[in-house]
Amino acid sequence: MKTSMAASEIHGLAAHAAGAQLVPYKYEPGPMQANEVEVRISHCGICHSDIHLIDNDWGLSRYPFVPGHEIVGTVSAVGAGVRDRAVGQRVGIGWQADSCGICEWCKQGEENLCADAQPTCVGRNGGYADSVRVNARFAIPVPEVLQSENVAPLLCAGITVYSPLRNLGVRPASRVGIVGIGGLGHLGLQFAKAFGAEVTALSTSTDKEAEARRLGADHFVNTRDNGGLKKIAGSFDLLLSTVSADQDWPALVACLRPKGTLCVVGVPPSPIAVQAFPLIAGKRSLAGSNSGSPQDLHEMLNVAARHSIKAITERFPMAKANEALLRVKKNQVRYRAVLAN
Ligand code: NAP
Ligand code: ZN
Repeated sequence: MKTSMAASEIHGLAAHAAGAQLVPYKYEPGPMQANEVEVRISHCGICHSDIHLIDNDWGLSRYPFVPGHEIVGTVSAVGAGVRDRAVGQRVGIGWQADSCGICEWCKQGEENLCADAQPTCVGRNGGYADSVRVNARFAIPVPEVLQSENVAPLLCAGITVYSPLRNLGVRPASRVGIVGIGGLGHLGLQFAKAFGAEVTALSTSTDKEAEARRLGADHFVNTRDNGGLKKIAGSFDLLLSTVSADQDWPALVACLRPKGTLCVVGVPPSPIAVQAFPLIAGKRSLAGSNSGSPQDLHEMLNVAARHSIKAITERFPMAKANEALLRVKKNQVRYRAVLAN
């Protein structure tokens, strides 16, 4: 058995004010908790939520702020009470690092709904670093066939699209639209295809059409095309919006079939205003979804392994995180930037 050796100092990158560049930062993690693992990070994806948090778009950020919640690495130390993770094991960590473990949601395996859920990089130091500590339950073993660089983005982007497809009952008869073909969206196309749905990519970037089709889209709609959305009115059972900008919400609701759902996972800056009548008349729903439970994370990684689903990545050394963040902000990355140690 490999010995457990917890770090006395963790080296990462932090923003010291809203919107600031990341600079080297070190902190002492203190004694290991009994239920924790420490993970030596090999890769960490850049999720658009990291940018929202650096910029304090949600009013949640505390500085110094170490971003990062699409982590893959190797367990380097385990707490005294951890029985089911071992030093040397490869694991992935997503948005959530801990939960209370005793509320009704934790008990039924929906820890992502726990009122005391602790995000990996809110009120804690995240994965743009050499190591991170989390509750062992949130360090998910990664199937051997998946490459660390391509699997890191699945830990947040992947589960955030997988979870609504699964939990809103997508099946081969379903017509699914994925709005925004970025980090989340390009994985949404692949998972929606794996669920057997007829898949449409809705995008502002016409240069993404060929790739979107290769990833599983049967149709491609340019949302900037005047009247583009009108042509597909009444088309979808599920529309999954992954866009971080305001959109024409009434036009998207009009794209739903009766009983269809517009599920929002991207976080636009303004409130979402839609008329009640199109929801009432067609019994349509407006829904949200947050990341996913550890149970869904296990399942999603297995599905990815069996269906060869992976993130298309651009790799940057950890030290070039600021450059990578700028490319994400400009919507230039195809399709997920991943930092490597
Ligand atoms: P991303 O890689 O930057 O992709 C977002 C995509 O949205 C872009 O590639 C682009 O796709 C489209 N887009 C960007 N700006 C747009 C604009 N002004 N108008 C229309 N479309 C635009 O971001 P991501 O990492 O996928 O994250 C997307 C959003 O999901 C963020 O708000 C993030 O915080 C949120 N998120 C939520 C959860 C959750 O649990 N609910 C989890 C992770 C992320 P096209 O080029 O195809 O138009
Ligand atoms: Zn994320």
